[in-house]
Amino acid sequence: MKYKILYDRIKCEDNLVCVAECPKLWKLNSSTGKVSLKGSKETKLGSKIFELVIEKKDLNACRKAEAGCPKGAIKINELKE
Ligand code: SF4
Repeated sequence: MKYKILYDRIKCEDNLVCVAECPKLWKLNSSTGKVSLKGSKETKLGSKIFELVIEKKDLNACRKAEAGCPKGAIKINELKE
């Protein structure tokens, strides 16, 4: 089973909750102070919305980041096989 993370860069306030919960996939750019989702690419859904497909092994940590994000900037959807 695979999952898709959608990350809304516009909603994000760079408070690092996701970086703390899931440092494997989220990182802080220390020179800009901006958070990003490692390896993601911008979607056609709208500017500044990024997506990344992940494996089940990374789901737990990502769910914690999703639940902890105070801005609702992270959504995780299950992908159909
Ligand atoms: S937890 Fe949400 S608001 Fe905070 S840095 Fe991560 S995506 Fe942005």
